[in-house]
Amino acid sequence: MSLVLRSTRVVTPEGTRAATVAVAGGRIAAVGPHDAQVPAGARLEDLGDDVLLPGLVDTHVHVNDPGRTAWEGFWTATRAAAAGGITTLLDMPLNSLPPTTTVGNLRTKQDVARPKAHVDTGFWGGALPDNVKDLRPLHDAGVFGFKCFLSPSGVEEFPELDQEQLARSMAEIAGFGGLLIVHAEDPHHLAAAPQRPGPRYADFLASRPRDAENTAIESLIAHAERLRARVHVLHLSSSDALPLIAAAKRRGVRVSVESCPHFLTLTAEEVPDGATEFKCCPPIRESANQDLLWQGLADGTIDCIVSDHSPCTTDLKTPDFASAWGGISSLQLGLPAIWTEARQRGHTLDDVVRWMSEAPARLAGLDRKGAIEAGRDADFAVLAPDETFTVDPANLYHRNQVTAYAGRTLSGVVRSTWLRGERIAENGNLAEPTGRLLERNN
Ligand SMILES: [Zn+2]
Repeated sequence: MSLVLRSTRVVTPEGTRAATVAVAGGRIAAVGPHDAQVPAGARLEDLGDDVLLPGLVDTHVHVNDPGRTAWEGFWTATRAAAAGGITTLLDMPLNSLPPTTTVGNLRTKQDVARPKAHVDTGFWGGALPDNVKDLRPLHDAGVFGFKCFLSPSGVEEFPELDQEQLARSMAEIAGFGGLLIVHAEDPHHLAAAPQRPGPRYADFLASRPRDAENTAIESLIAHAERLRARVHVLHLSSSDALPLIAAAKRRGVRVSVESCPHFLTLTAEEVPDGATEFKCCPPIRESANQDLLWQGLADGTIDCIVSDHSPCTTDLKTPDFASAWGGISSLQLGLPAIWTEARQRGHTLDDVVRWMSEAPARLAGLDRKGAIEAGRDADFAVLAPDETFTVDPANLYHRNQVTAYAGRTLSGVVRSTWLRGERIAENGNLAEPTGRLLERNN
C-alpha cells in the first residue's frame, strides 16, 4: 500500500461512513473501517472530519483549444477543474479550431491537450451534416460519443443538423452502439420567438422559449425510440420537458438527461439587465422552473449535473443580450454552487456525488471513475462542506475571470484533489500536470 486516506465521512456507493481508503498503484485497493491498521510503509493522510468524495466527472466542458485559446485552453481549464475537485473532464467538440469532427482533428486536439492536462481528459466527437462517414472512425479512435445541434451553434464551422440529418446520424451511431448527445432547441420555434435586442434579460428569455426545448426533445425522443438509439439531452433548462422525458424512460427509450449548476442555482428574476455573464442557451429560467428541475433530479428524471463551462473573452460579453457570446464560466465552482443549493433543499452529499460523479461517469462508460470502491482509480476531492467562501473571480483559474457567480457566498471549500493517488491540488495550489488522455473503454 502506498497511501491510506482516513476520514470520518467517506462518500461510498453504500452511503457516507467513517472509513479508510487504501491506495496502491493509483487505484483504490480497499475501503475498510475507520480504525483499520495502516500497513507498514504506507503513508497515512488523516482528513479528520473533512469529507472524502470521489473526484467529480464533468462531461460537458468547452476547452476551445487549439483555435480559440484566448477564451480558454487545456492548461487553464484543467487547472480550474483540479482546483474545483474535478478529476475527469470531457471536452466538447466545438469552439476549438479544428472542431473534433474527424480522426485527424481528434489527434490534433489530443496532441495539444497531452502536455497541459492536469486532470484526466477525454473527447466528444461532433456530428455535422456532412461527416457521417467520419463517425465510425472517430468512435473507433476513442471519442465517447457525438454531439450535435438542432439549431445554430454560434460558430460557423459547426453547423446544426435538420431532422433528416439527425435521423441519418443517429442511425449510423446506433449501428455501432454509440451515444448521441444533443443540444435540443428547435430552430423554428426560435425563429418564431420575439427578437428584441438590448440589455433586458426578459427580452432575451422571451427569445429562447421553453417550447423550443420541449419540441426538440420530443422529436429527439421519437427518433431514438424508432431507431432504438441511445441519446442524451444536454443542458436541460425547460422543466416542461420533464414529463415527456420521464414517460420515455418508462417506455424504455434509451434517453438520459443532464442539467447544469446555473439552471439549478441562478434564476431569471435575479439577472441584472446588461449582465450578459448570465447569458447561455438555453437560458436560465424562472425560479418556479428551477424548483421543478430539482424535483426532476430528486425523482431521477434528470441523471446528472455537469458544468457546460463555456467561456469567452470579456469583450464578447457586451451588454446586449442578443449579440453577447452565450456561455457561462463555472468549471471551478460547480461543486460548491450545487452543494450550497442542494443542502438548502434537503439533499445530501451522497446525492451530489451521484449527480456529479457517478452518473456522468456512467454516461461516458468510465467504469474506473465515479465512485470510491475497490478497483476504481484513486481520484478524490476533499471537501469542507460547512465552510463558506465568497466568489472572487481573481481566485479562479479560468483563462478569463468572468463568471455569473462573482460575489456569491457558497458553502463547500475544496481542500484538496487527488488524481490516481497523487495530490494535484491543495488549498488552491496546483501540481504539475499529470492528467492522462482517456479514450472510450480504456
Ligand atoms: Zn455546451
